[in-house]
This record gives sequence, C-alpha cells and structure tokens, in this order.
Amino acid sequence: MAVMFSIVAPIYNELDNLSELYQRVREVMSGTDGTWELILVDDGSSDGSTRRILEMAKDDERVRPVIFARNFGHQVAITAGWDYARGEAVVIIDADLQDPPEAIPELIAKWREGYEVVYAVRAEREGETWFKKTTAALFYRIVHRITDVNIPVDSGDFRLMDRKVVEVLKTMRERHRFPRGMSAWVGFRQIGVPYKRAARHAGVTKYPFNKMLKLALNAITGFSYFPLQLATYFGFAAAGVAIIAIPVVIIMRLVGHGAFLGQATTLIAVLFLGGVQLIFLGVLGEYLGRIYDEVKGRPLYIVRQGPDK
Ligand code: UDP
Ligand code: MG
Repeated sequence: MAVMFSIVAPIYNELDNLSELYQRVREVMSGTDGTWELILVDDGSSDGSTRRILEMAKDDERVRPVIFARNFGHQVAITAGWDYARGEAVVIIDADLQDPPEAIPELIAKWREGYEVVYAVRAEREGETWFKKTTAALFYRIVHRITDVNIPVDSGDFRLMDRKVVEVLKTMRERHRFPRGMSAWVGFRQIGVPYKRAARHAGVTKYPFNKMLKLALNAITGFSYFPLQLATYFGFAAAGVAIIAIPVVIIMRLVGHGAFLGQATTLIAVLFLGGVQLIFLGVLGEYLGRIYDEVKGRPLYIVRQGPDK
C-alpha cells in the first residue's frame, strides 16, 4: 500500500487563499508517490471560508473539513489537525501560502532518510514589516534562551512529523499550547530544512501584537519556570543590598554624616520594591491562571462539523 501524507492547514478568514492553497498542494502532492489528504481546520471563520471549505470537500474527497464551533486559535487548530490526520506523515502548513507547498517534497525526502521531525527554517522572510521581523527574531531568541527544551530558532509551525511523533503529541492535551515547542520536547530524530518564507498570498495577518504576546507567554510559561525563579534572585539581591546598606547607614549616622535623610529616598525604595512585588504577583498569576485552566479540564476545541475520524 502506498504511504499516505496528511497536510494540515489552520484557517481563519482565508477565503482568498483557499483555492490557491488547494491547487498548489494538489500539484505538489501529485508529484509524490503517496496518497494524500488535505485537512482544512476552520477556526471559526466569518468571511465565507467555511462554506468554501465544505464545497471543496464535496468536490474532492481528499479534502477533509474540520469546522470549529468558534475561534479557538491557531495552536488549537493545529492540534485538531493532529487528531484528525490519518497519514503516515503529517505536514502542518499555513493557509496563507507563506509556507510554500513546493517545499513539502524536501521535507518528505528528509523523512524518508529516517528523520521523524523535519522542521522548515526561515532562511529569508518576504513582505513582512520591520516590526514583525524584529519582534519575531527577538521572540525566538528569548524563548530559545530561557526554556528548557531546545526549540530551533527561526522555525515556525511549518514541519513534517512522523506518525509516531503525532501519536505522542496527541496525548499532550495542555491548554496553553506552543506546538513547535511541544514537537521539540518529544525528542526523536529532528532536522531543519531552510526555506524562503514568502509574503502572504492574500489578506492580512491574523496575528496582531496581542496574539503574538500571548503566544510568547505560552511558550515561556509552558516550557520554563524562569520567570518564577527570577523573583528568588531578585529577593536575594534586594536582601543583599539591605544587609550591606544597614551597617553603612548606621556608621554614617554615628559619625554625624547627614546622608540618606530625605523622604524621597524612602519613597523611591518603597515604589521600587512595591513595583517589583506587583510584577511578580502578576507572574504568579500567569502560572496560577494556567493551572486553573488545566484543572477545569474542558475540551480543547469544539467541532461543529467534522469528517469521519
Ligand atoms: N490562524 C488560525 N486561527 C487564528 C489565527 C490564525 O487558524 O486565530 C491561521 C491563519 O489562517 C493562517 C495561520 O494560522 O493559516 C497563520 O496565521 P497568520 O498568517 O495570520 O500569521 P503570521 O504568518 O502573520 O504570523
Ligand atoms: Mg502568515
């Protein structure tokens, strides 16, 4: 039996990209020796993408629609893709064609060499703002530095994963998700393949700054305790300063030196430490809220209409 590939694309208001996506995936996949399915996960679109996806599924049974009951977010849509995929290898790809489907054969070639996770690395980015590129570059480097897993720099969700890997990922039902971190965390044989990230085919980015910030927080809290530990370091540093400052001030007073008498000094110290404490209360809150969400144990997503599993 021929191998089967699953191509998964999360879709949030991508009406003008759907036909192009389908055609290019079909074109590319017809050049491989396997069969394929294209799983289109509709993440609560409101621009008519839903209807178009269902039409496409009617015309070609290799297109399998998963329609969410509302917008659950890109990461959750990817998760649904893992859940519904039936292929031996699963490829996650953006629907806006920033990840060129033409790169899929290269990913497949590495998979055939025995690699179980083949991630595409952005060697170049086209048509994105200076702000997006800078924040993205900074984000990847910070995450790389402070998390405990080795998350490759400049790789997004565009990747191919072996069935074995997908089966492991399916058991990881955490709510605040960072799929590329999760797929690094599982281990297996991994390799990067460079590619040129294209400009969006049509439409605008669905990742405004607040969503990027949320994703960054998921990445950091999901894979590191560093922000929590920071409070400890800060506490030691502040206590250290106090231990040195107390005898210094006492001696200065005894010798009649008039330093540190002002109210301003006190105010600054109070404001500074109060600020630091509030910040770390917030950090605690970030972790606490996430624990609360996990404990509720709600389903990760709700499907209004899906294909047979
Ligand atoms: N997306 C989604 N749900 C969302 C936001 C985005 O499924 O809430 C999809 C979107 O349709 C696209 C992919 O995730 O296929 C990446 O989004 P986008 O291209 O807007 O992000 P960017 O490339 O600008 O980082
Ligand atoms: Mg995009």
